[in-house]
Amino acid sequence: MYLSKDNVIFNFNKDHTPVLRVTTPATLDVETFDCFSNQLRDPSDRMDQLDWERINPATGPIFVEGAEPGDTLKVSINRINLNEKGTICCMENEGTLGHMIKGTHIRIAPIENGIVKYLNFEIPVKKMIGVIGVAPMEGAINTGTPGHHGGNMDTLMITEGATIYFHVAVPGALFALGDCHAVMGDGEIGVSALECPATINLTLDIIKGKGPEYPVLENKDEFAIIVSKPTVDEAIFRATELMCEFLEQRLTTYSRPEIIMLMSLVGNVQISQVVDPEKTVRFVFPKKYAPGAKF
Ligand code: CA
Ligand code: ZN
Repeated sequence: MYLSKDNVIFNFNKDHTPVLRVTTPATLDVETFDCFSNQLRDPSDRMDQLDWERINPATGPIFVEGAEPGDTLKVSINRINLNEKGTICCMENEGTLGHMIKGTHIRIAPIENGIVKYLNFEIPVKKMIGVIGVAPMEGAINTGTPGHHGGNMDTLMITEGATIYFHVAVPGALFALGDCHAVMGDGEIGVSALECPATINLTLDIIKGKGPEYPVLENKDEFAIIVSKPTVDEAIFRATELMCEFLEQRLTTYSRPEIIMLMSLVGNVQISQVVDPEKTVRFVFPKKYAPGAKF
């Protein structure tokens, strides 16, 4: 199955008409624009030609047959195929250093054999998906904002081999994604990664019930809970609380204080991004200290 980037949304909203209906398990290729809707793709392009109404397009939404409120949408990222070049920008009053520059600036960087060429440097590609999520129960959430529904989480771990579990809030889940990055550092401090059009191969499935408060991620070696809040501090507190509960339900022979001490010894607070309307943090716990644990 293939879904082209012709149909995009700029907010997660239950009122959007689905552009595809799938029966699970469903494996499909989804084509995505970069976060600028591919408007800045040549070195001669200028930031001031940008139509700001078309920022952060997410391809979709996809109606997942049988997904009901309270269920879990399981999304496995099989492959990310990037375009051969990406765009990065920084601008006045955006990001953590926006007060230190004037105007807007962009650079185009080629991507070849897993290497990004930027200035005189060769930077290894670290593919990831910036925007991925489902519709909230009520209202519309801009695709630039992260939250309970996922959205613009800009999290490095959302990459090939990862499985992400989302809380289904509306019938069909209304899943959408976009904003792939060829490389980004934790924090995304300059407000942009190397933004890149892409095609993502993914598998959608439903787990009845169990819808998590915030997206939960699993890869070969780790579990992560990805929390977005107005401040990093608030996000850290909620991410650790949720991981503590997650582990308590699975490591039932240990007490809460023992689990907290284990989390303190081997778990990691990691910053996903600090430049979006809500800040995103993940608490990461190695699976080897949770033997046999499943989502
Ligand atoms: Ca983003
Ligand atoms: Zn992006």
